[in-house]
Amino acid sequence: MRKALPFIFLLAGLGLVLWRWQATLPGVKSETRLMMGTIIEIRVEDGGKEAEDVIGRAFGEIARVESMMDPHRSGSDLAKINAGFEMVRVNDDTRRVLDEALRIVDRSKGAFSPVLGGVVDLWDFDNEGRLPDPEVLAAALPPSPREGIRVANEGIQRISPKVKLDFGAIAKGYAVDRAVEILRNSGVTAGSVNAGGDIAFIGDKGGSPWRVAIQHPREAGGLLAVIPVRDRAVVTSGDYERYFEADGVRYHHLLNPLTGYPADACRSVTVQAPGAMLADGLATAAFVLGPEAGLKLLEEWPGVEGLIVSADGSVEVTSGLQGKVVWP
Ligand code: AMP
Ligand code: MG
Repeated sequence: MRKALPFIFLLAGLGLVLWRWQATLPGVKSETRLMMGTIIEIRVEDGGKEAEDVIGRAFGEIARVESMMDPHRSGSDLAKINAGFEMVRVNDDTRRVLDEALRIVDRSKGAFSPVLGGVVDLWDFDNEGRLPDPEVLAAALPPSPREGIRVANEGIQRISPKVKLDFGAIAKGYAVDRAVEILRNSGVTAGSVNAGGDIAFIGDKGGSPWRVAIQHPREAGGLLAVIPVRDRAVVTSGDYERYFEADGVRYHHLLNPLTGYPADACRSVTVQAPGAMLADGLATAAFVLGPEAGLKLLEEWPGVEGLIVSADGSVEVTSGLQGKVVWP
């Protein structure tokens, strides 16, 4: 053991040197911040001296999205809508996200619902999570979004008291898209924005595609597959992200809007799309729909590909990904 110690120190030292070398490669700049309830990393591969400033502005844009769409932040668009029944003037961003959410509601036949905030709060997954009383849960179920809210030129209005807007399944993707736009407009041609696994890539990595590792849903830190990506977003929704167990049952944060209980037909869904907002929304929608209808939704949506792990562990991919996925 004694003999091994210097060797371990040598390896650790070498690791540190390599890490420093990687971090200071000319042109590569990255920064990590805790935002939107997750770790966000912005990386610029081809930046000049101004890269740090560009990254700072991209983080500023994410903060702006968060301040509009966090339903628990007073003064946010969502908090204002949820507080009463008046028509509320909202930012263009909030309207864009709601429009996209409603498109996904329609195409997923209601499996996706951006008005589940009341039900989401009962489960309290932001903290340890708790099993709600079944009667309280049933009484909190909101109507479909098309019936529960009114969207007009002047703003957005809540009609049903059971409706609470919650963009948890799509806002992070939108924030990633906005950050990517800042990078692109600043001339970045290679880079990435990663918000806790919701990732968008600009360009490629030195002429080769980026290689995105997909988390194994039942092996912590384990690898399920690797997919090659250029200039696209990749987002995963999984039952391993936020959950608790009670009496041997796993209760997780992806809810069936019809019952208020966790959707149980999938373990994870990964979606590749031109933008992160769409990928984020569709990953949640396909998860709730289940493997068969979920795969159909992804297959039929133009420009979208995906990979679904069913509750029994079997894996299916859309036709455009066949032959491209690398299995470890
Ligand atoms: P994601 O991690 O993108 O799959 O989003 C999960 C979050 O979306 C949850 O924490 C809830 O806030 C919200 N959510 C849960 N179920 C649904 C659903 N069926 N449709 C839309 N949002 C949902
Ligand atoms: Mg999502």
